[in-house]
Amino acid sequence: MKTIGLLGGMSWESTAEYYRIINEEINRRLGGSHSASILMVSFDFHEIEVLQHQEEWNRMETLLVEQARKLEQAGAALLLICTNTMHRLAPAIEKAIGIPLLHIADATGRAIVQKQIHTVGLLGTRFTMEGDFYRKRLDERFDLNVIIPTPGEREEIHRIIYGELVTGKIWTPSREKFIQVIGSLEKRGAEGIILGCTEIPLLVKQEHSPLPLFDTTTLHALAGVEMALQ
Ligand code: GLU
Repeated sequence: MKTIGLLGGMSWESTAEYYRIINEEINRRLGGSHSASILMVSFDFHEIEVLQHQEEWNRMETLLVEQARKLEQAGAALLLICTNTMHRLAPAIEKAIGIPLLHIADATGRAIVQKQIHTVGLLGTRFTMEGDFYRKRLDERFDLNVIIPTPGEREEIHRIIYGELVTGKIWTPSREKFIQVIGSLEKRGAEGIILGCTEIPLLVKQEHSPLPLFDTTTLHALAGVEMALQ
């Protein structure tokens, strides 16, 4: 079994899910008392959140590259960045390390294609929904038509992520808001929904949605296990 490197703490609420899912899946596959071999760096999310909202992407690149290198030097054989948003920096991080970086959009894209879905709604932070680093990859590599919520809906989703989910606040009115946005994406042609922020699956589960959900946290973590066992 290879050692999985995690760039985590963005936020720790979702990194805890990665830790649980990876260990559970390793145990399910290997049995007995097996658990995963993991190395993790966990950022103070406050620092990251401030830099994100100041659009200080170069400063964040320096921070993440430094920690990714540390994980490699410590013996990680592959790297997972435990957030969709920070995959904006994935190309730079990938270039700076000698171990494979398992991209969250690739794990997600593969699952969507398997379900033979073509038009998919994307929910995430403003950076993920509005930037092209995520949508373009899904379009170019998986030929997916990715649609995003309206500006007002995007603002509300972004606020719920940073104001509630990253600090573990799981509130019913916010879930209802997500359900409403999923409904309007469905009317616009979405056949499935990407939960493209690693905290959203803490709030919205499959039973809340009329459309199939693609939980990026689970898909990414399971793809990490697959690679670790290869
Ligand atoms: N974990 C979230 C994501 O998947 C948001 C927090 C962050 O900005 O990293 O995008």
